[in-house]
Parts: sequence; C-alpha cells; structure tokens
Amino acid sequence: MYLRRLVAVWCAHAIRFFCRMCGKQGGTFAGRVALRIDPSILTALAAEVRNHIFIVCGTNGKSTTNTLLASVLEADGGRVICNRTGSNMLSGVVSAFVLGAGAGGHLDADYACLEVDEASAVKVIPHFQPDFMILTNLFRDQMDRYGDIDATMELLSRAIEMAPEMKLLINGDEPLSVYLAQRNQNPMITYGVSQQVQELQDTKEIREGQFCKCCGEKLRYRFYHYGQLGDYCCPKCGFTRPAIDFEGTQVNLSGGLQFNIRDYHIKTGFEDFYSIYNLLAVYSAATLSGADLSEFNKIICSYSPPPGRNETFKIGDTKVMLKLAKNQVGFDQNICAILADQKPKDIIILINDNAQDGTDISWIWDVNFERLHEARAASVTVSGIRCLDMCLRLKYADIPSEPEPEIEAAIQSKVRLKDGTKNLYLLVNYTGLYEAHKILKKMEEKSYEYYNRSFVS
Ligand SMILES: [Zn+2]
Repeated sequence: MYLRRLVAVWCAHAIRFFCRMCGKQGGTFAGRVALRIDPSILTALAAEVRNHIFIVCGTNGKSTTNTLLASVLEADGGRVICNRTGSNMLSGVVSAFVLGAGAGGHLDADYACLEVDEASAVKVIPHFQPDFMILTNLFRDQMDRYGDIDATMELLSRAIEMAPEMKLLINGDEPLSVYLAQRNQNPMITYGVSQQVQELQDTKEIREGQFCKCCGEKLRYRFYHYGQLGDYCCPKCGFTRPAIDFEGTQVNLSGGLQFNIRDYHIKTGFEDFYSIYNLLAVYSAATLSGADLSEFNKIICSYSPPPGRNETFKIGDTKVMLKLAKNQVGFDQNICAILADQKPKDIIILINDNAQDGTDISWIWDVNFERLHEARAASVTVSGIRCLDMCLRLKYADIPSEPEPEIEAAIQSKVRLKDGTKNLYLLVNYTGLYEAHKILKKMEEKSYEYYNRSFVS
C-alpha cells in the first residue's frame, strides 16, 4: 500500500514538472493520476494533517476566503496545504495534498485549507472528515451546470450529512446557508454584520433567497445588505437570523473598509463592502484554530489576492482594476464598488460563455446595469465571445457601448489614450479572467521597463 502511495506522489510531481516545462499548470491532471494509482491516497495524506482541515464552500468568495485563511495560519507559524490555484474539484484537492507531500510520500502539515466546489463536496468528504466547513453564501450561479439553487443545496446537505462531526462556520446574514445548516445536526458557528451599512438600493436586488425556505413566505428585513443578506425573519413560521458569534460592528467604508470584530479593529484598503464577509469568515476560522491574530491587519496588507479579486495594475499612468464577476450578485456588487469611486473612469465588460462560465448567460438580464448611469463612465467597452449580447443588454439600460471582441485590443485602446481618464475598470467572467490577468501583467511589466529605461537614460 505504501509503495502505491509513493509511486502516486512521485508521478504527480513528475507530471507537474513536465506540465510546467510546457507552460501549463498541470495540477488537476497530477491529482487525477495520483488518485488512479492509489485510490486511498487522499484518506492517507489527510490523516497526516496535525491540526485542522478546513473546506470552504459557497457561491462567491471561496478563493479569497480560503487563500487568506491559509496566509493567516502560515503567518502564525503553521504549515498549510492549500489549493491556491483554485482547482476546487476532487482532483484539485488531491493534487494539493500529493504535491504538498515530500519524496518519502508523507505530509508535514499543521492545517489544510481547501476550496471545494459545491457539487464536489459530496465526492471529497467520503475521503476524509474535515473539521470545519466554511460556507460563504449561496446564490444562483451557472444554472446549466449546477441546476437551480435547490439542487446545489441538496448536494451540500448530503455532503454535510456525511461528516456529522464537522463544524459549520456559516454566514448568519444569509438565510439559505442558515436554513441548510439548521436542517443538519452539525454544530454551527456564525458570523455576520450587525448594522445597516450601505444606503438601501432599490429592492429589485432581493431575489430568490428572499423567500423563507421553511414555509415559502416572503422574509422581512430589519436591515438589508445585498442579494438576500441582512437581518431577516419570517413573519409566518418564525425562521430568523440566528445569534451571531463573530459580529462585524462599526463598519465604515470611507477610505477603505474598516470594522471591529470582538476587540480588534480591522483596517483594509478594500473599497467594496462584500469583502467584509471574507474577512469575518477568516477571522472567525483562525480564532477557532487558536491562531494569534494580533497582526491580522499586517497580514491583510501583505496578502496578494487571487487574480481578479481586488487586483490592481499600473500600466503607464493608468490604474487598472481587474474584477471577477461570474454571476448576477457578483456583478451587482462590483457595480457598487465602481459607484463608490467618484473619479471619471473607463469600463470594459467581458462576457464569455465557455463551459466553465456556464453557456447560459441569461443572468446578465438580472444584473442592475442601469446603475452605471451614475458611474461617471467616459466609455463602456464590451468584449469577449458574447460581447454583442452584452451590448444589447446595455442598450436596454440606455447605456451606449462599443463592442471589441478581443480583450487585448480593448485594453490597449483605453490605456493608450493620451487624454483618457487613466482609471480603467475591467469586469470579467470566469474564463476571461486568466487571459485578462496575463495580458495586464505583461503590459504592466513592459510599461515598468519602459519607464525605468527612460529614467536611467
Ligand atoms: Zn417561514
């Protein structure tokens, strides 16, 4: 058995080595091969984690929550296994473990932080029992892949049932997650924001999650944040927001997101409100692990987010913000962040419909693009495979846009403008993200070299 494990680990390392030589990541493939060679490898390696295993599930915020938690635990001196590349299906989880194992086929790790796709949790959990599941939120996402939200909840519920000891760390402001957690008997810990923060937008934003899952009645809100998040209760059956264990208070968004949690004041450079939930989840999880959090602000400061999550580039004298928005709630939240920036700006929206994006992009009709009227946008460019659909959507919102299917050309045309706004926002859905990230990185390096050269000469 041990020999099998050894062969699996060595093969995985070799596969990754060759894939990297060819300019590919190869992590997922390495994981798939390792599991084929030794089907019990995930169980064996997970058993060697000395402290806690966290899995992070939910529609939005998984990658940031997971990688930030790993960074916090590392800063506390822990050795952490983490699928930082965002490969969040079974093979991606396997690859995080096998590629983290040494030449002797063993793991030297205190923690494992694993982002797990909602549909993959039922495949991962039979291999090992996680100590915690962090559930960020549940929104409608990629209908053609996951089916409706009920199907996703059913899958997660089955996964939770498989691990009765696993503690659920839940966003208490989000009624669907709370309903799911309460339906199962697992221990539950909650985090949430206990005050109204943003001005109430038109309530068109409150969508399918606004109905009580227990009885179907429309939920009432004492205060409301976005999506279906807020302080809710059902007037008919009494389903209500639970007591919150880790509360964000004194929230302030002017000059970067700031808030208090327990006795600690968190100060960030993030301009958006929704990041508060990722931070609350991480702070709660790390506290439950017994990590020292006195340097939490420093860690956030030095943390480099995954591509497209609060990511900024500097190309010449243009500031470029790359933002991943892969579903309706993600887009609405990113539009909020754009509105919070009062300066004139250019906006590029990229929509692809590859398998990983979901081929059904009808959700663009649910996004409140009408609000871009207040965005002080000097121009809006639409790009990607479905740029014409996006152009039509904006036409209905009475917002003129220029189509440019090639993202590189779209970016070039804005950063080259001599008298442009020098402030560019790029909203992209999933498969456009890595391409856009690569192009921006290359352009940033080139412009850095150019400026350095002119400085020296
Ligand atoms: Zn009810």
